[in-house]
Amino acid sequence: MTSVSALTDHIEQYFEQQSELYGKDTFLLGIQPGKPATATALAPVLEMKENSEIDKPKDLSQKALLEQFNAEHKNCMRCGLGKERTQIVLGSGSAFAKVLFIGEGPGREEDAKGLPFVGDAGQILERMLKRMGFIRKEVYITNVVKCRPPGNRNPNDDEIAACAPLLQKQIQIIQPRYLFCLGKVAANALLRSDETIKALRSKVHSYHGAKTFVTYHPAALLRDQNLFWEVYEDMKLFRQVYDAEIGDKPPMVEMNRKN
Ligand code: SF4
Repeated sequence: MTSVSALTDHIEQYFEQQSELYGKDTFLLGIQPGKPATATALAPVLEMKENSEIDKPKDLSQKALLEQFNAEHKNCMRCGLGKERTQIVLGSGSAFAKVLFIGEGPGREEDAKGLPFVGDAGQILERMLKRMGFIRKEVYITNVVKCRPPGNRNPNDDEIAACAPLLQKQIQIIQPRYLFCLGKVAANALLRSDETIKALRSKVHSYHGAKTFVTYHPAALLRDQNLFWEVYEDMKLFRQVYDAEIGDKPPMVEMNRKN
């Protein structure tokens, strides 16, 4: 079986070959202010006070607050997934992260290790981070649900709703300037939408003042390497916004494709 490392190397080579074949970059990336997401059956999930900015914690440092949060929730049994898990996977990374990445839920390896995105999809996410000019420890990575759904099924609406206060709290503590939803479950939960990834990506949404981006889950890229071009477009869109507002990273390496 092909290892993930070999697969990601192959994908990198694929990018380089496409670049050589097709010359100049032909991406057209317009930044469109996020239109209001449609309220749907998934709506309950991540609703904070309407139009509120994310509240800034006042008394403790973000690091202390995050440690306190982890201690308070490490034994959470708010939904049935608590009974199924080996370890809870609350999240990892910097309490001061400017960017918070949100997947759907822990997989088998994450459940075993208690850390998010440490399996095959995690290797892909780390490649994505590198390409965007980030390292893992400067961002924060978590999931919509913190316990592994059996058989890696998608979490259901009740489980997402039960776990929503934990993600809300993490966002309130870390106060990321940017949120990056990885996959449909995270995007639908955060943006209160039932639209497809195709409809939600390539736009800048807003979640209580945090600019919010949507792209495919890294696991989807393991199944279909052609999605990398769309993910690359989303990474570029993020960097356009990040560079305009913060601008502390070297330029993102350009890759080229034929539209
Ligand atoms: S998935 Fe979330 S709400 Fe459910 S038990 Fe785990 S931490 Fe608690």
